[in-house]
Amino acid sequence: MTSRSVSARGMGAPEPAMPQNFITTSWDDGHPLDFRIAEMLARHGLTGTFYIPRKIDTGVMSEAQVRDLSSHFEVGAHTLNHVFLADTDAATAQAEIAGSKKWVEDVTGKTCLMFCPPAGRFNSLHEPMFRSAGYVGIRTVEFISLDPPRAHDGLMEMPTTIQAHPQPAWNYVKNLIKRVAVFNAWRYIVVGRGLTNGGDWPDLARRLLDQALLHGGVFHLWGHSWEIEQAGQWEPLERVLAMLGQAVRERSTPCLTNGDLCLRGRQSQQA
Ligand SMILES: [Zn+2]
Repeated sequence: MTSRSVSARGMGAPEPAMPQNFITTSWDDGHPLDFRIAEMLARHGLTGTFYIPRKIDTGVMSEAQVRDLSSHFEVGAHTLNHVFLADTDAATAQAEIAGSKKWVEDVTGKTCLMFCPPAGRFNSLHEPMFRSAGYVGIRTVEFISLDPPRAHDGLMEMPTTIQAHPQPAWNYVKNLIKRVAVFNAWRYIVVGRGLTNGGDWPDLARRLLDQALLHGGVFHLWGHSWEIEQAGQWEPLERVLAMLGQAVRERSTPCLTNGDLCLRGRQSQQA
């Protein structure tokens, strides 16, 4: 130990910071079954961001219900008509991106910080549209990421860790190869080792949460309530939310909305 570090300690310098870890959750499409998820989140002391379009074929809650939900949880935009941005023309994309922010704000009476492109699909043409609409951040779909939101010219990009849905292992590998997400692919191979075909997603979720708690990072669970219903995943979801609630209570891991995490990320960029 050098004399300099001894004197620094003597002056009451802080110990090295513990790795920072956070939990966040997000839920797409605004199906009325989102209220079942909301009840589960509240019961486990967790929060969440609900990305709600005005219209979608799978069915969507009423505007009064969106307003109700927004009194306890964050509501983010998900286009007006659940449009896949990459499949539409620039004018339509622009109208859907800006229009859905205004719609969420009119319905909830709150600033809409976040946007989630349907299916996580967008291209570089859309990034200036997200910025000019005034979003703080966008939520993408990534497999196995534990990264905090990343800054792109003032726009925060919020990746995901795991979807509340059984996936064959091949889906993870395919997605990671497509995104050239080398580090995440490595994490899947190391963390997912010995899991049979990736089907039991709560086991993978537990291992990824342990990684985040040990090394720091953002554990981001996401899903669709209509899909959880279809695939019979309410019981596994209950187990995973109980595990996250335990981390919040016993490990003091903060659970923040997507928007609050992006605001934090942006502030630390500016600092
Ligand atoms: Zn969607």
